[in-house]
Formats: sequence, structure tokens, C-alpha cells
Amino acid sequence: MTKTYNFSAGPAVLPQEVLEKAQSEFLNYQESGMSVMEMSHRSSIFENILEDAKTALRQLMGIPENYHLLFLQGGASLQFTMVPLNLTQNQTAYYVDTGSWSKKAISEAKKIPHVTVSKLASSEDKNFSYIPEIDENSVPSTAAYVHITTNNTIEGTSFQTLPHFKDVPLVADMSSNILSNDYDINDFGLIYAGAQKNIGPAGLTLVIIRDDLLKDHINISNMLDYRIHVKNNSLYNTPNTFGIYMAKLGFEWLLAKGGIPEIVKENKEKSGLLYDFIDHSKLFTSPVAQKDRSINNIPFLTGNKELDSKFVSEAEALGLVNIKGHRSVGGMRASLYNAFPMEGVEKLVNFMETFEKEHG
Ligand code: PMP
Repeated sequence: MTKTYNFSAGPAVLPQEVLEKAQSEFLNYQESGMSVMEMSHRSSIFENILEDAKTALRQLMGIPENYHLLFLQGGASLQFTMVPLNLTQNQTAYYVDTGSWSKKAISEAKKIPHVTVSKLASSEDKNFSYIPEIDENSVPSTAAYVHITTNNTIEGTSFQTLPHFKDVPLVADMSSNILSNDYDINDFGLIYAGAQKNIGPAGLTLVIIRDDLLKDHINISNMLDYRIHVKNNSLYNTPNTFGIYMAKLGFEWLLAKGGIPEIVKENKEKSGLLYDFIDHSKLFTSPVAQKDRSINNIPFLTGNKELDSKFVSEAEALGLVNIKGHRSVGGMRASLYNAFPMEGVEKLVNFMETFEKEHG
């Protein structure tokens, strides 16, 4: 088999060590005589997996006791609905519009009758190529929350500093940069993320919610109610047990590596190598404002659609796979999540150099 480097934006590359560990335990988890996939979610052996996952994540992200951790389903997309349903009581929710995913979050929130949605800032005027300025004083203390997307997976932008609002919780869709940027949890009221980029396989959604946000709200379905999931420790119904197990392995892998400070360093080195090449290139350009660049998702273009397609297919032949840009942006996109190795970036940059010599 040819060695491939998987630049996919998600589901994305997982750490080799995590896959090998899962393989070694696949048929017989810790002498239980069965696979994790076959275990009751109510068994003590599975509950230990869940507790270990939570403990490791608390340690990694420095999550204080007044925050609850939930492992849910429905993807980050269901959080677009659960957040406004649970956090709003005839109030206004403010959204910062920084790309395709925040647009979807806004449009889902607007469907909920008791929520008024207000756009606090937007970068749509320039194709979401930057992070807009936010007037922190324009949000009244009666607001339900302010929603941001910390990293814009498709557009390749990322908040470099967080906005702060007195008395109003900050809610973050952190799907594409959770565990690869160093955040202070105390800056947030709620964080959510789909697992399939930096946590584990698809089908698992992480929610971190501050205790005081579990308040009374309109009567909603139990499955959509954070209070029900907190009360039942993510076991109200059958969770994605294997996904939680894989997430636990992923968290433990990251802890053993030195945690978030170490991975931030590695991610900056990986993205730095690619950005540095792009900045000096006569062929490739970055469509993103330099100050707002993401270290996780890096779009780049030649400016010529046919050349972009040629680049994508020649890259694939070399084992550099899933590097085609999102259909709404075009060009190429290298997603460099935590598990993506430096050798893959070096190989990509070497190929870009060769391609530029041929076509520049
Ligand atoms: N938000 C962001 C920032 C994303 O990148 C994605 C998925 N690519 C989503 C939300 C949607 O996630 P899911 O497919 O888990 O619903």
C-alpha cells in the first residue's frame, strides 16, 4: 500500500497510535471477552471508559468543575438548534457571521419561534476571507449569548483573540480547532464540536456547558434538553459508545504527547512551513487575510481552475489525498489537524515547489 497523507477536513486523519491501540483491543477489551462495540452502555466497564474520557479531556483543556461534559449525537449541526432552544427565553441571541458554518447556525436559530437572532458582525462582504471587528459594547446585558465559530473550516480563518462580553455568555462552535488551540475555558459559556476532526471518528458531538446555563426553558424534547443529558451523564439514551472509546484513546494520546501546549507548537510549525512557502510563491496564493489565518485549515489557489485540478490529481497520485478545496471556495485546502504529520506537510511543500517550477 502506498503511504498516503490525508488532508481531509473531516472525517480526518487519526493518530496512528490510536488506531493501533484500538486494533489491539478490538476483539477483547481488557480481558472482558468482548469488543467495546458489544458492551452495554450501562456496564461498569463502559462507564469507566466514559469517566476516563471525561477525566482526560478535563485535564487536557483545564475544564473547571462548574462545567459539564456531554457526549451527544447529531453532529455540530444539531447544536445549531440545541443551543438557541436551551439558552434563550424570549431573548436576542447574537451571532458573528464568519462563513458557511456560522451561516447555517444563524439560519437554524432563526427557525425557533422564541428566539430573536441578531447579526453582530459579518465578513461576507469579502467572501469571509477575514474575521470582522466586533463591537463588544453593542451587546446588551439582556442578550442570551454571543455565538462565534472559532475556526472556519471552509474559509480558513480563525479568531486570534476572543471577544469578551460582560454578563453575556460566549458560545463557540469549536468543531475544527478544539484541542489544537490553547483556550481558557472560563472565557466560554458553552463550547460544542463535532468529533471527526480533532477528537475521533464521526458520530460523536462534544458539548461543554457551564452549570449556570442549565436553566428553565420552554418544554422541549428530552433528547434536545441539555439538563436531561447532564442529569444522565450522557447516558439518557444509548450514546455512540465506540466513538467515546476512540475519543478517550485520542485524549490519552494527546496527554502523553505533552497536551495542548505541545500540539499548538507542532501545529504552528506545520502550518508555518506551508504558509511560508505560499507567501514566497509566484504561483500559489492564500485567499485569507494574513492576520486571521487558521493553523488548521489552509486554503490556497493558483488562480487558474484547470491548474488547480491538475495540482489536485497529481498530488493524489503522490499520495497527497483529499486536498481539493471545498466546492464553495475552489482551489486547494490542506487540513492540518493534530494527527497530521510534519512529513506530510514537507512532502506537500516539495511537490508545490516542483509544480511551481513546471507551471509558474
Ligand atoms: N461547524 C463547523 C465549523 C464545521 O467544520 C462542521 C463540519 N465540517 C460543522 C459545524 C458541521 O458538523 P457536523 O457534520 O458534525 O454536523
